[in-house]
Order: sequence, then C-alpha cells, then structure tokens
Amino acid sequence: MIADYHIHTNMCRHAEGGAREYVERAAELGMREMGFADHLPFLGGWEPLHDLTDDWAMPQDELDDYVTLVLELAREYAGDLRIALGIEADFIPETIEHTAAVLEQYPFEYVIGSVHIVGDRFGFDHPEMEGRLAEYGLDRIHLESLDLARQAAETGLFDVAGHLDHAAKFGPPGDEEAVAAAASAALRAVAAAGMALEINTGGLRKDIGRPFPAPVLLAEARGLGIPLVLGSDAHRPGDVGHGFDHAAGLARAAGYAALRSIASGGEEPLP
Ligand code: ZN
Ligand code: FE
Ligand code: ZN
Ligand code: FE
Repeated sequence: MIADYHIHTNMCRHAEGGAREYVERAAELGMREMGFADHLPFLGGWEPLHDLTDDWAMPQDELDDYVTLVLELAREYAGDLRIALGIEADFIPETIEHTAAVLEQYPFEYVIGSVHIVGDRFGFDHPEMEGRLAEYGLDRIHLESLDLARQAAETGLFDVAGHLDHAAKFGPPGDEEAVAAAASAALRAVAAAGMALEINTGGLRKDIGRPFPAPVLLAEARGLGIPLVLGSDAHRPGDVGHGFDHAAGLARAAGYAALRSIASGGEEPLP
C-alpha cells in the first residue's frame, strides 16, 4: 500500500492511540513506508485566540520524547516498514524564526507546512472558534489561508504543503476567481521551493467529503511539476491509509503516474 506521511499520535492530546498502534495498523495494511507528522507546539509563548489547554499539540518539553519514540520504532521495524520522522508545523509568521531554530534541533526527515491559523491569531479549524467563522468571512479565510501557504513555501522551511485548500471544508468561496488566483500563487511558490504537495484524505472524513486539495489544483500542481505524497491526517489508528485508493485515482486523473517517496527521495509508481 502507498505510504502515508501524515500520521498523528496521542501525544498531541486530540488523537487516539499511541504511535505503536499506528505502526501496527500500517504494517497490517501492508504499507512499506509511513511517516509520523504530529503537531509541532506553538513556540515562544505565542498563542492563538482559542483556549490551548491540552488539545492542540504536545507541550514543547515532550518533543524530545516524540522524536525518540519515532526513532525507536523506526529501528524496531526496520526491514519490514520504513518509518520516517516528520512533523506538521504551523506557519505562524510571528514565530517563524523560532520555528526554524526548533526544526533545526531535530533530525526531521520532512516538515509538513500547514496553515491552521489566519489573521489575528484565529485558529479557524478549532471547534471553539466555529462561531467566529461567519463574522470573519469565509472568503477571507480562503484567501488568507492560501496566501499564508504561499508565504510558508517562500520561507524554504517546509518540505510538504499540507491540506492546501483546507478552508474549502467550510464551503466554497463567493469570489471563486480571487481564491483560484491565491491557490495558483501558493502552488507556484510550492513548485519554486521544490516542495511536495500532499493529497490529504482527512477531508473524506469531514462534511466536504473529498480530500484536500481539489482536483483542479492537483491538475495545476501536475502542470507545475510538483511531486505528490499521500497523507491520511490520521488521528486514530483506523485512519491510517484511509481513502488512499480514491486519492490514487485523483492523482491519476490529474495526470500523475508516480508519487514521491520521502524515504528514498525517489518516485514510486502509482499502483
Ligand atoms: Zn491534529
Ligand atoms: Fe493540520
Ligand atoms: Zn493538518
Ligand atoms: Fe494533521
């Protein structure tokens, strides 16, 4: 089965199951390669508007444990299953230097750059913030999150663009043209940075019922020569590899014949 590079663990406080359970699930599915990408904590005292009590990421002093745990599992399973050490880092312009410094301290094989926060520290994805969506404006969330994804790519700090059109889960924008232009700009920056794009099948488990990003953006990414990886955004062991047949079909429909292997740096033909 195709490698899954977007896997969380219970260390982030809002996922179920320890790292080993995710590994066991991947092995059960016959996966040869997988990668953990749990949430990097917010750094240096920076906080979003929502209450952070224990439900966003591991505390920073547990990062060492996360890295050690993943590396130990990687050693234990070597031969059967190649386990890559990754992390999902929020792009927060205010703390980008701190983020860079922390990322450098660890042997991460890849960093998924994700946008979960826009504007004035608004974590648009957080359940507590639901009431704020209408007031903030859906188009604004679409546009700002894509513009932040572009800026994230321009930092050169990230290897994979996570769930690029995440804002689409709240519904389509009014000004489709402006949002399409923002998405194109983000994709061009991803291409220029030599990053990969993820098909994130987490969207299949949400109301939107499709992976991120939309098929039209996959086709555009293909045109720009951007490599693809798959990620389930698993927050429970049963999510590992979820919807990957569907995602492979979308990749093929967009013109892709292969996926990027993070472990080897090469390409794996699409099954
Ligand atoms: Zn999460
Ligand atoms: Fe995310
Ligand atoms: Zn994410
Ligand atoms: Fe995630």
